Amino acid sequence: MLSSEKIMQNLEFVNISNDEFTIFEWKPPRSYKSFVLDMNILKQNPSSDIFFHLHKGNMKIAYIRMENLIYSAGSNTEIQFQLLEALIEEVIKKFNERYDVKSYLSFGKFSSNMFDSFKPFVENIIINFKSLNLVKQINVPCMVCDKILPLLIKRSSIENAESHPVPIVYSHSGHAILCFIDRNFDVRGVELVNITG
Ligand SMILES: [Zn+2]
Repeated sequence: MLSSEKIMQNLEFVNISNDEFTIFEWKPPRSYKSFVLDMNILKQNPSSDIFFHLHKGNMKIAYIRMENLIYSAGSNTEIQFQLLEALIEEVIKKFNERYDVKSYLSFGKFSSNMFDSFKPFVENIIINFKSLNLVKQINVPCMVCDKILPLLIKRSSIENAESHPVPIVYSHSGHAILCFIDRNFDVRGVELVNITG
């Protein structure tokens, strides 16, 4: 299942970096993996304020650059990207509530443990992810798989949309469907789309 209860078991990291180094990182207990190389890839993307997705081996990474910080989260392939985005949005919100990020940035110097106190906040988001109600699971029919598939959508993508229904491409198993979701999270249509890239 893709449900949000499983986020804890499937999450690999939550990272906040500037263009030079990591200023905050959460990893599951007993994880000694390093994501330095992944962060170097993300840093090469200068675009701000829009989410990007990266497939890397068995990992999915969602990230966004905002105010010269790159917020990212990585998981195994069990997790859908919109769930990672919802998690990152909540991390951004809490991080900016807690710290005056702009003034920290203007100091230009970080100590590696400056944001250690943020760890419990991230754990809290992960543990309580389901009750935060940031994502909604809806069912969409795929005419290729000939199945009803669970699709996880972050609420903000529907609630903050400028118009409805909102088109969402669900790429899975080597093909993609375009789903139209209205403001009540009802599926208004599903189309098979061609993909390139
Ligand atoms: Zn399918």
